[in-house]
Amino acid sequence: MDKLCFEMPIVSECKVSECAYNVSSNCHARAITIGDGIRPGCDTFLKGSRHTRKAGQVAGIGACKISGCKFNEDFECQTDSVRVGTVQNQANCMTFSAR
Ligand code: SF4
Ligand code: SF4
Repeated sequence: MDKLCFEMPIVSECKVSECAYNVSSNCHARAITIGDGIRPGCDTFLKGSRHTRKAGQVAGIGACKISGCKFNEDFECQTDSVRVGTVQNQANCMTFSAR
């Protein structure tokens, strides 16, 4: 497999325990996408039992479609890390801050 090496903000915490990528309040997807429309939802959320065998893998923010967030530039997140939690029963970027 080819490897990419670049800087990316990380998911420092995720409280969405019912997501398949979640282990012990951490996200172990390779990278997630935020923004499933106008709210800063986690587009990578997958309801299911835990899938990951790589609990040491830290997830990055690959893309974010929320241009109304002050951390967003060119549909990419520019902050160091984000937290994900549940808002109205949906996985949500808790670091979102309106411009
Ligand atoms: S809801 Fe999103 S950030 Fe949280 S574990 Fe699932 S994919 Fe990762
Ligand atoms: S902090 Fe803002 S730009 Fe970064 S992922 Fe969350 S909503 Fe997107």
